[in-house]
Amino acid sequence: MTELTGLFLSELTDWCKERKLPGFRAKQIFKWIHQGVDFDGMTNLPLSLREQLKQEAIAQPVRIIHERRSKIDDTVKFLFGLKDGNCVEGVLMHYHHGYTLCISTQVGCRMGCTFCASTLDGCVRSLTAGEMLAEVLLANQFLGEKGKVGHIVLMGSGEPLDNYDNVIQFLKLVSHPDGVNIGMRHVSLSTCGVVDKIYRLMEENLQLTLSVSLHAPNDAIRRQIMPIANTYAIDELMDAVRAYVRKTGRRVVFEYALIDQLNSRPEHARELASLVGGMQCHVNLIPLNYVDERHLRPATPEAVQLFLKTLEERRISATIRREMGSDIGGACGQLRRSVLEGKA
Ligand code: SAH
Repeated sequence: MTELTGLFLSELTDWCKERKLPGFRAKQIFKWIHQGVDFDGMTNLPLSLREQLKQEAIAQPVRIIHERRSKIDDTVKFLFGLKDGNCVEGVLMHYHHGYTLCISTQVGCRMGCTFCASTLDGCVRSLTAGEMLAEVLLANQFLGEKGKVGHIVLMGSGEPLDNYDNVIQFLKLVSHPDGVNIGMRHVSLSTCGVVDKIYRLMEENLQLTLSVSLHAPNDAIRRQIMPIANTYAIDELMDAVRAYVRKTGRRVVFEYALIDQLNSRPEHARELASLVGGMQCHVNLIPLNYVDERHLRPATPEAVQLFLKTLEERRISATIRREMGSDIGGACGQLRRSVLEGKA
């Protein structure tokens, strides 16, 4: 079975040619797929062709198996089921500028950050480009008349740069003018800091926003919570980020989860300010989401405010991330875990 969702139009055209189908059929199929329509709904194809396609290909490699709506805001958390029985999460958020979808790039994650629920059982497998696109198509279908996904953040489970080729293919598909056509300027890719891949991404010359999960102002603290810090020192990471900004002209976002005592005291804020000072960047402060299996506590609201003030006094652009859907298992990997453990 061929997963058609992940194919470029040129690849789909070749696939059709092998089956003696004219090029315009490939275009028709491509458009339908990117509208999230399954073979039965492709009404401008002859019935016999639809039957043939059903035998040979997959148009919808993902389905929604569970959804949880927030009572506080409009946030919806999806559990997406994959063909092999695995599942991943996605979160749909409603902002004044439209809908943002947070998608997963892998089933689980092998990066091992100590505060993150996604990585508890390691990485099962990477998602295909078609599966990532299907997350977007399903969210659009879910929205129906209400609107369309306008922004995408690669901040669900998985490390996008650990699934490099599929992620790049997905980005090209999702920005295709005949598809859902979401511009790269409306995409954020978040990484725990895989330095060699940041250099590679830089060469792709995409206009996406790079988010770097920093979470510490120095190597000693970073190594306590993020194993990747043992592979790449913070200075090497900063060099890569500076090169990225120079090459792309795009502002980088640093994610910083505030953990009680560990990284959230005023001296940490001062150290962070000197680390990122002078860079074209923004610091996103996230009060840590408490995860049952993890023993780290969020910083107090007072500590969060003081941290922000300390950065601002040093003219670092920073904001505290608005919490969305905190009543529906906000942190990465929480819904999947609770379903796997039969608690949902
Ligand atoms: N692997 C990528 C993207 C997925 S995680 C990365 O590391 O950036 C998306 C963001 O959520 C990252 O900044 C991650 O560090 C953060 N995160 C994970 N668990 C969290 C928690 N319990 N509380 C707050 N932020 C968390």
